[in-house]
Amino acid sequence: MQTALANIQMVDLKGQYQKIKTEIDAAVLECMVSAQFIQGPQVKEFQLALEEYLGVKHVIPCANGTDALQIALMALGLEPGDEVIVPTFTYVATAEVIGLLRLTPVMVDVDPNTFNITAEIIEKAITPRTKAIVPVHLFGQCADMEPIMALAEKHGLFVIEDNAQAIGADYYFSNGRKQKAGTIAHIGSTSFFPSKNLGCYGDGGALTTNNDALAEKIRIIANHGQRKKYYHEVLGVNSRLDTIQAAILNVKLPYLDQYCAARQSVASYYDQNLKGITGLKIPARAANSTHVFHQYTLQVASHLRSNLIAHLANHGIPSMIYYPVPLYRQEAFKIYWEAGKSLPVTEMLCESVVSLPIHTEMDEELLSFIAETVASFFNK
Ligand SMILES: *Cc1c(COP(=O)(O)O)cnc(C)c1O
Repeated sequence: MQTALANIQMVDLKGQYQKIKTEIDAAVLECMVSAQFIQGPQVKEFQLALEEYLGVKHVIPCANGTDALQIALMALGLEPGDEVIVPTFTYVATAEVIGLLRLTPVMVDVDPNTFNITAEIIEKAITPRTKAIVPVHLFGQCADMEPIMALAEKHGLFVIEDNAQAIGADYYFSNGRKQKAGTIAHIGSTSFFPSKNLGCYGDGGALTTNNDALAEKIRIIANHGQRKKYYHEVLGVNSRLDTIQAAILNVKLPYLDQYCAARQSVASYYDQNLKGITGLKIPARAANSTHVFHQYTLQVASHLRSNLIAHLANHGIPSMIYYPVPLYRQEAFKIYWEAGKSLPVTEMLCESVVSLPIHTEMDEELLSFIAETVASFFNK
């Protein structure tokens, strides 16, 4: 008999699959039988369902979240050397595609509470060469988009939301209107990597936009630059969502709100049981966004962090550091950075953050074990 405390995972994909196995197996089997592995009807079905869920005019499914970012940038018609402002505290994909397209990533610091970039931070980095901004909705809550969009409009800049971690989150405008993460900027990109909040069983991604002309460009670029088969208007890429992955996502999308709610209750449990501990800071909530907790990320006094991680590991509890190194310190990004320069908030976060297990299959026994083990480290 396995208890919930055996083999604790950061994300429990096996447990989640067991609960929807009948539906998933049938959906996958149907793909095998119909053998429409590329652009089968499930892809269009998923596109329409996601458009409806997000309340966005266009969803363009693609092969993964990194491709979604790259295709978004390609659709904007930027020139080599154009500058794109991006947080330095993020997953590499956000900035990697900028460099690959011979654009210049301008890496900026983040807010110490929300871990996201803000209009104030962005404004200081704008130059005559700036063409676009890529805010990342890190760990599951939105960057403050209303002032970011106002700033972008003032300077004539494009905005791409990297929504790989916050699908399902709601952003609230100052007039009370709410919109789903990824549908606010000119283009949104997301990822269905298995461990993301809406994960498939391999690679997958999508772009979102309310702009018809951009949607058309994106569709063409994602399909070898062709509108009509064998007639290529622009240089494109081959980036499709597999039919099998779309079939899996069609089963999982109806559960997304439930999955977000499960993550939110895990986060509340951790909050309740970890708040007020000296040397430990629970995640702050952004003022204008719900939080779907792709990660539950603590800040720990930096001299204690490795000991806390070892203490958790001794009790069979995994933890992860997202992210240990600012982008500008990565070998691949040094060419975009003035040697010796550093950004204080990112440096501090890279030394102090630690993420606890959070997923859709956690019960109270498991949560109390993890929370008590964290607390016991500080209260010993
Ligand atoms: C996961 C992720 C991506 C990339 O998605 P893939 O599907 O793995 O290519 C991009 N940006 C952020 C912030 C991510 O977390």
